[in-house]
Amino acid sequence: MKVGFPHGGNIYIPLRTLFRELGVDCVVPPPNSKRSLNLGTKYSPEGACLPFKLTLGNLIEACEEGADLLVQARGFGICRLGYYTRIQEPILHDLGYDAEVMKFTLSENFKFIGILKLFKRICDGASWLRILRAYHFGMSKFRDLDEIERLVQRVRPRELERGSANRLFLEATHAIDDADSMSSLKRIKKDYIEKLKGIPQDPDADPITVGIAGEIYVVLEPFANMDIEVELGKLGVEVRRKLSYYQWAKYNFYLNPLGINEWRAVRKAAYPYLRRDVGGDGWESVGEKVLYSQEYDGMIHLFPFTCMPETVAQNIMSSTKEHIPVLSIACDEQMGKVGMLTRLEAFVDLLEHRHCQKRRGTP
Ligand code: SF4
Repeated sequence: MKVGFPHGGNIYIPLRTLFRELGVDCVVPPPNSKRSLNLGTKYSPEGACLPFKLTLGNLIEACEEGADLLVQARGFGICRLGYYTRIQEPILHDLGYDAEVMKFTLSENFKFIGILKLFKRICDGASWLRILRAYHFGMSKFRDLDEIERLVQRVRPRELERGSANRLFLEATHAIDDADSMSSLKRIKKDYIEKLKGIPQDPDADPITVGIAGEIYVVLEPFANMDIEVELGKLGVEVRRKLSYYQWAKYNFYLNPLGINEWRAVRKAAYPYLRRDVGGDGWESVGEKVLYSQEYDGMIHLFPFTCMPETVAQNIMSSTKEHIPVLSIACDEQMGKVGMLTRLEAFVDLLEHRHCQKRRGTP
């Protein structure tokens, strides 16, 4: 049996680790590329959202590499994620791939036990203890990548030699992916944090801060957002992003008897404008704008073209009383990098102008 799964940011790292630790043969499809997008677009319904198309492209590529069991998430409620596997499975079968699609529902009830049961279903022979250990190792990689990435976001706009933090981040990602024990993981993390802190930085830099929010897949998949964080770093912007798969897992997988949950605070902040879940991450996008408007100079709202939850959020975000500029970027297969860079440059110009005025105390 060969297990395959679609990409989504660096989610392949903990998944590959988990399967490796459990002795399951797994296929990581090639990183998202023009080919994955073309394959996904060719076989998807025309109005499907970008994550549907890209993940379908990944599943086709995984099948081409011999995967016969595909693991894919489905959602519940009002977002199109509920239809993903129902539509993707017959498309794959029509294309001649007879891989089984193992579905799991990302619902309020899919907690820690749910994820363990999923891995138990995939590798029936493994003991619960072995699954627990593998899970812990995979999640530790996720946590460390997250921590390193936060530091990279801080260093990018301050580094004297552009690209140094990105180069180290790429190296760190590979090293963490290859780590085969908790002790080597600990060492790798320490090494790279030291290296990143050692990058020569401009002591007088006063970068503007831009928060990135929106639909989780396009926010976290660099191919889908055309490496927006790297591009903003080149423009001297410090990116702040609350969303990460590690944070998402932390808030969704574990029971939280004390009710301490940043996501709840974000949703509460959205209350004056939106009092219910509209699917996907729409509620959180509104809440992030309200909650962090003092912290950011501006916000970039990323969403897939035709994404209903984020279209609702987009309309609310432009009219809240917490007034910071918001640039909305709809991602789809028609998006061109040059067009996106032009919009980013204009947005950063505007924010820098406001930043200077604020510093000088002029209205
Ligand atoms: S949140 Fe939007 S992009 Fe994501 S699955 Fe739902 S409709 Fe598609």
